[in-house]
Amino acid sequence: MVENLKLYIGGEWTEGTGESAHELISPATGEHIANVPLASGDDIDRAVTAARTAQDEFRHWSAFERAELLGRIAEAVQQNTEEIARIQTLEQGKPYHAESLADIAEANEYFTNSAEDAKRLEGRVIPTTDRNKRMFTFHRPVGVWAAITPWNFPVTIPLEYLGPGLATGNAVIVKPPEFTSWGLLKLAEAFDAAGVPKGLVSIIPGGADIGEMLVTHPDIDGIGFTGSSETGRRIISQMGIKRSIMEMSGNGPTIVTDDANLDRAAELAVYGAYYNAGQVCCATERVIVVDSVHDEFVDLVLKASEQVRLGDPFDETTNMGPLNNEPTAVKMDRHLADAADRGATILTGGSRAEGFPTDLYYEFTVIDGVPEDSLVSTEETFGPVLPILSVAQDDDAVALANRTHLGLQAAVFTSSLQRAFWYADRVRSGTVVINDSTDFWETFQPFGGAAGTDTGWGRGSLEEFTDPQTVVIDLNNVK
Ligand code: NAD
Repeated sequence: MVENLKLYIGGEWTEGTGESAHELISPATGEHIANVPLASGDDIDRAVTAARTAQDEFRHWSAFERAELLGRIAEAVQQNTEEIARIQTLEQGKPYHAESLADIAEANEYFTNSAEDAKRLEGRVIPTTDRNKRMFTFHRPVGVWAAITPWNFPVTIPLEYLGPGLATGNAVIVKPPEFTSWGLLKLAEAFDAAGVPKGLVSIIPGGADIGEMLVTHPDIDGIGFTGSSETGRRIISQMGIKRSIMEMSGNGPTIVTDDANLDRAAELAVYGAYYNAGQVCCATERVIVVDSVHDEFVDLVLKASEQVRLGDPFDETTNMGPLNNEPTAVKMDRHLADAADRGATILTGGSRAEGFPTDLYYEFTVIDGVPEDSLVSTEETFGPVLPILSVAQDDDAVALANRTHLGLQAAVFTSSLQRAFWYADRVRSGTVVINDSTDFWETFQPFGGAAGTDTGWGRGSLEEFTDPQTVVIDLNNVK
């Protein structure tokens, strides 16, 4: 049965006034599962006006009142976990048991952690030169945000903006990609159930055109963007003077030193490459291994690869589903062909898998002897591939790790604490994880790129969603 979805605008469920709809096809089954109405410019204006009106009132709620509201949203989401997770698997392709359920369970942390943090978001009292003056600061909400989000974590990434945004008194309009919007629209029922003031949240799926309408809208105050560096560059050139959080692409290296626990390094490198079929900004996009342990490490990687079970994402034993979309699969094809052309050796996998309902199921792939200038090394592949590059020693590993424009999250495996810090001090990356996967993640960890790379500036704390307002009082002139 095909579901006819509605947009969530200004707290109402509506078909909108746009003239077209997107046919949502499941990457898992190939079936047409839903129709998503595409909004018009009038719908966008309506959402922005409703957001402004709602936020004018909401900004006066105390942090404790907002926290209570977020708690009710989290509870309502929790009651619908299985259904949201089922829809997410159907439209995104990630395995239901191995990943999708955990994604939705994690979703609540964005509300509950933000609610707690907002209660303790304290201002400053600043000494003045004049003994009769008092100066202090408040954290004021920025206002109305547009959150433009990607398809790889279609439910949780919007919540990275909704949780802290609402906790600090903002309104948020989310624009997910039209082809992974159903799960988030299902989750939005929780906003009604929790009694979120109408207009404070809108969900308007769509592509670049709808994104651009939001980015350039004069009454939007902040842009939260998670997506590719290429799109981010375009958004920055268009948005004008707006607050922004820009979370972009990664090409995370995993470095394996000669004193690493190789079993653990191999297992977690494989995990970092196949989790969510490699469609993760901080996936293990390349492994740099020191020559002296290369052969043993490769053997262990091949052994660990046997744990990858590509299959029907609703099957309990599956831990890797199909890729989400054809452009991503084509990019995998192109990067693997390029690596083979340049003399790399494909040790396992290497092509799309046969016998599945769609052409998006890709074999887990390990490539050794990867030249530094090949596409799998220099660009973000965003597929289930583990490219192995080798270097003579630690200095070379750092140099190679840093020859990227996408320093988002790196991992280093070493049993020496001294070496761990030596690497952390030198690898140019927003996060350096020691002895765990590049996919390591906590919902509250500060996350973003390294300056000078194309990865953007991420979230450090709730303050990102607020403006500091300074108040000065002259005590001579008050009663
Ligand atoms: P994308 O840049 O193609 O799209 C992201 C969002 O931007 C979508 O909603 C899309 O419709 C919208 N968009 C596209 N063109 C636009 C425009 N001109 N104006 C406004 N909006 C526009 O990225 P994607 O393919 O959806 O996602 C994959 C990318 O996201 C990867 O590079 C991945 O590394 C990155 N990502 C980063 C993080 C992070 O936290 N750093 C997390 C997840 C994904």
